[in-house]
Amino acid sequence: MRILLAEDDDRIRSDVSRALEAAGYVVDSQANGEEAWFMGDTESYAAAILDLGLPGMDGLAVLKRWRAAGRDFPVLVLTARGAWTERVEGIDAGADDYLPKPFRMEELVARLRAIIRRSGGQASPVVIVGEAELDTRQMRLSVHGVPINLSPQEYRLVAYLMLHKGRVVPQQELAEHLQADHFERESNAVEVLVGRVRRKLPIALIETRRGFGYTVADSDAAP
Ligand code: CA
Repeated sequence: MRILLAEDDDRIRSDVSRALEAAGYVVDSQANGEEAWFMGDTESYAAAILDLGLPGMDGLAVLKRWRAAGRDFPVLVLTARGAWTERVEGIDAGADDYLPKPFRMEELVARLRAIIRRSGGQASPVVIVGEAELDTRQMRLSVHGVPINLSPQEYRLVAYLMLHKGRVVPQQELAEHLQADHFERESNAVEVLVGRVRRKLPIALIETRRGFGYTVADSDAAP
């Protein structure tokens, strides 16, 4: 999953970036508010982490502009310690959660996971589709209770589709979430990855909608 990180403190930006990559996310980081706004306005993200005090354009203005333009990805706001007015303004401007500095990386990753899950309509860290069970805390997929050995990229593909179960996800959107360098996308990279994942699964989890994309059917939804 692709995350936008907007933070002008070099140290925090590189620490957060490293922690997110270790947690299996693809990260685009920006130190400038206006550039962060542009990225969020034009690219597709699973979530954004937004510092409020940014050069170029402050975080609140960035968030308000995204929301005014209908960009509805979840946003976790980073605020200065004890600045409760910033928290209130952040929530009012459309933030999904906030975290005061300094924070523990574990807490940041947990909160990020929670806002992504909620935005996908999932209240639980475990997503179940038929016989497949995705545990987003353990980053593990099991089928019939047996863990499937997936590479990080294979896991990201399955997790993205399962978190958006019932929706057809265009190939382009998947490619954006799976690759760190979006200038090096190969046209058939997603197809190859889907093929590899399918061979590892004992069940038909991922359906192809030719010309549209891929989907994991929502087994709980009414037919
Ligand atoms: Ca700052």
